[in-house]
Amino acid sequence: MEQTGTIVKVAGPLVVASGMSGVRMYDVVLVSEMRLVGEVVKLDGDLASIQVYEETGGIGPGEPVFTTGIPLSVELGPGLMSSIYDGIQRPLAVIREKTGDFITRGVHADGLDRGRKWEFTPKFKAGDEVVPGDILGVCPETPLVEHRVLVPPGVRGKLTALDSGSYTVDEPIGKIKTPEGEAELKLMHTWPVRKSRPFARRLTPEEPLISGQRVIDAFFPVGKGGTACVPGPFGSGKTVIQHQLAKWANAEIVVYVGCGERGNEMTDVLMEFPELKDPRSGEPLITRTVMIANTSNMPVAAREASIYTGITIGEYYRDMGYSVALMADSTSRWAEAMREMSGRLEEMPGEEGYPAYLGTKVAEFYERAGRTICLGSDEREASLTVIGAVSPAGGDLSDPVVQATLRVVKVFWSLEDKLAYKRHFPAISWLNSYSLYTDNIAEYLKREMGEDWIPMRDEAMALLQREAELEEIVRLVGMESLSPGDRLVMETSRSIREDFLHQNAFHPVDTFSSAYKQYRMLKLVMSFHHAAKAALETPELNLDALFALPVSEDIARAKFTPEEEVEASFDGIESDMQKQIEELISEGPGT
Ligand code: ADP
Repeated sequence: MEQTGTIVKVAGPLVVASGMSGVRMYDVVLVSEMRLVGEVVKLDGDLASIQVYEETGGIGPGEPVFTTGIPLSVELGPGLMSSIYDGIQRPLAVIREKTGDFITRGVHADGLDRGRKWEFTPKFKAGDEVVPGDILGVCPETPLVEHRVLVPPGVRGKLTALDSGSYTVDEPIGKIKTPEGEAELKLMHTWPVRKSRPFARRLTPEEPLISGQRVIDAFFPVGKGGTACVPGPFGSGKTVIQHQLAKWANAEIVVYVGCGERGNEMTDVLMEFPELKDPRSGEPLITRTVMIANTSNMPVAAREASIYTGITIGEYYRDMGYSVALMADSTSRWAEAMREMSGRLEEMPGEEGYPAYLGTKVAEFYERAGRTICLGSDEREASLTVIGAVSPAGGDLSDPVVQATLRVVKVFWSLEDKLAYKRHFPAISWLNSYSLYTDNIAEYLKREMGEDWIPMRDEAMALLQREAELEEIVRLVGMESLSPGDRLVMETSRSIREDFLHQNAFHPVDTFSSAYKQYRMLKLVMSFHHAAKAALETPELNLDALFALPVSEDIARAKFTPEEEVEASFDGIESDMQKQIEELISEGPGT
């Protein structure tokens, strides 16, 4: 490797080098004899500004900079699943082996293990014509994931060889005759992280990502291939939500990007996540997960690399035809890194010191989510759903990062510490959250939940709004002053909140509710509401007796009914409800 440049200035993660006239924006360069990985982020004549992803302490002017001629890229192939990487795709386990617990600088480690062999079974044979995205064959990657080996984007032609066998990621598995000549095919290829991977067509999300979490699925669903944002005040249950989504959401692959600030924040995730079990298969969840973790001794600039590395790996599994869910926590930390870098580059600052391009970068990141038809001749469909956590200082939602995010994402789960304080979990506000997917997924919901689902859910949400208004009145003049109709609104709203929305992630049954169970649960609550409303027509009906009917207790316990008993059990509750209310009416006033 030739030296091409010389350092003229070092300012934290920013290194400026002269003599760099040949390099391109976003090329990777190696800084100093330690060969610290950096990326060119600004070019000015032969001066290059380099964002360095490792600590630059002790490095100074006069030291060399080596070019690589390639942009920051990830290795894509079998072995990604179960891996835990840092922002520049170095496996933490390999680094630990090489250096002990502290990542010393300039350590090189391949993203994919060069020694490991994979059993490859081809799906094409010599003589076949293939196009980009075709599935050449498969390798069992983990007990839960079949790795589909793709013809890389840009490669097409006639296969001249493709053989089953046991291969490492960089051994040839076959050959292809392309218009540019014959090329080798391997289990892996590389892709520049800043460039989104191509697909054939984008489709509108029409199915929800079913998470089994009632407040999400019923009230604020995210479409498969959609985007969502969740703020995370400390202790509000953000970690629990992320774990629940990773475990239960009907996505086949999970990519978790951790841009933690404090070292221990990330340590928790690194310790806890590998312990989680996939509830459906009993296998460790990590066997269908890739984790990207910023370790505490990497400079802030590496957060940016983590975000791009993560989304590129997500796109890669999407391209295989999988439904992928990516969680990034926290994108605010990434934005702070951008702010720091921008400051050092002496760019014109925008709002609160963030660079003017903050909004564009955030939008570009979320735009890589989507429901798509993949490249390849088989027209397979896939999705990449992106859920980003934001952590504005003081929970202030007018923060520029939150605002930039809310402009692009279509779902907002407003996680509120005051709900967590009252032990209402998941602490997602029913008043401030929203989902813009409801219309797109309406057909799916009608089919899977029932024709009456949408009006029922809308009515429930409207009741909660009304409750919030009535609470004001109750505070001022007391519950007694409310009309019977309004008291029923208060009672039903309580039931929606406590019996339906409240969900205990640690209860073996309550932790997950199928779409059908959610439908039937809300229906119990709303059937009671309608039956009670009709009963209010009876003169002098005893409201306290109405609200104290034994069926209320059954409705409250409905969440603990195992899935297979839901139908029979809930049918029973519905008929008891009718009977009990009829009896109360026939008993007449004063009972
Ligand atoms: P954060 O990551 O926001 O700091 P956690 O996710 O660790 O907060 O949640 C804090 C605590 O709140 C948990 O230890 C747990 O006791 C409780 N909690 C959060 N969500 C739930 C839930 N869905 N069900 C039951 N308890 C919850």
